[in-house]
Amino acid sequence: MSTHVGPIDVDALRARLDKAATAATVAGVDALLITPGSDLRYLIGAGGSSFERLTCLVLPVGGAPVLVVPKLEQPGYAGVPTDELGVEVATWVDGEDPYALVKRALKGTGRLAVADMMPALHSLRLRDAIGGDQVLAGPVLRELRMRKDASEVAALRKAGAAIDRVHARVGEWLRPGRTEAEVGADIAAAIVAEGHELAEFVIVGSGPNGASPHHSLSDRVIEAGDVVVVDIGGPVAEGYNSDSTRTYVLGEPRDPDVWETYAVLQAAQQAAVDAVRPGVTCEAVDAAAREVIAEAGFGEYFVHRTGHGIGLDVHEEPYIVGGNDLPLEAGMAFSVEPGIYLPGRWGARIEDIVVATESGVESVNNRPHELVVLPA
Ligand code: ZN
Ligand code: ZN
Ligand code: ZN
Repeated sequence: MSTHVGPIDVDALRARLDKAATAATVAGVDALLITPGSDLRYLIGAGGSSFERLTCLVLPVGGAPVLVVPKLEQPGYAGVPTDELGVEVATWVDGEDPYALVKRALKGTGRLAVADMMPALHSLRLRDAIGGDQVLAGPVLRELRMRKDASEVAALRKAGAAIDRVHARVGEWLRPGRTEAEVGADIAAAIVAEGHELAEFVIVGSGPNGASPHHSLSDRVIEAGDVVVVDIGGPVAEGYNSDSTRTYVLGEPRDPDVWETYAVLQAAQQAAVDAVRPGVTCEAVDAAAREVIAEAGFGEYFVHRTGHGIGLDVHEEPYIVGGNDLPLEAGMAFSVEPGIYLPGRWGARIEDIVVATESGVESVNNRPHELVVLPA
């Protein structure tokens, strides 16, 4: 609820604001209008969420940025070095019209790029107040956010190491006779204890529940012989997220096919990671995993894309999906997470976050990929 200002590197933020204005110019946009969320955190270091009162960074091309913020929420932005960044702060109080403040900061109408996740409440009122065209800011800012700099990669490494430590401890909690929810609560606590700000998501998909890729937790009691998908992550203090999946089995798997099927998955995940290097397209990385799974006859059971970009958002550009011909560049960070889901029976997924480097690929997750056998 409170606005969170993480560790700040003023020079890096100033460079981002400059690059955002340049990218806006290139995109033929007259201004960026950015409400709280990951884009705002990327540009000025402030986290937080959007409410019914408007907070908005107005970034006109060729003009000075203005942060429109309710007076009562201004203290939450005290950690933002607005002076050093050249950001003017315009506060408003209840009864005043914040949309008029945005209009004044813009000095005109034109083509306005609004944050993808701006509430419709605000984008429609901005349109009423200002007029002009609205387009999404996402395609403009993704050009910056998708290419991680050294400090962002360092934060992803830190997040990756923290979630690896949690996976290393899963055997402390995952046992027959406990429910997914009980195991999930222990894992959530460990996610925080091992260095995350919070547990953003915890999936414990046991037995047939593992066949649902976005299952979260349930009261199902875990049994000996269950295959269990554990997909967990969250942000570290810098705001960058972890996201890693390992698949566990309690004793000997009930279904004797598990070993052979899992070996296919492991080969598919490795093939996709091995395909990663600058110049290779996102769809080629997806195809590398998909071909291995399809050749083994499980194509129809791999029901999602191979991966997603990750950074300040758990899911962001670039998406590792068929039809995305974007070539990878050094600094792009994304998951490689193929899965095989057998409805009514069990599922498995292996997920690591990798970063494309000048020479190939670096994985920020380094736990073994084998099916993890825990005592039954
Ligand atoms: Zn997902
Ligand atoms: Zn995941
Ligand atoms: Zn993921």
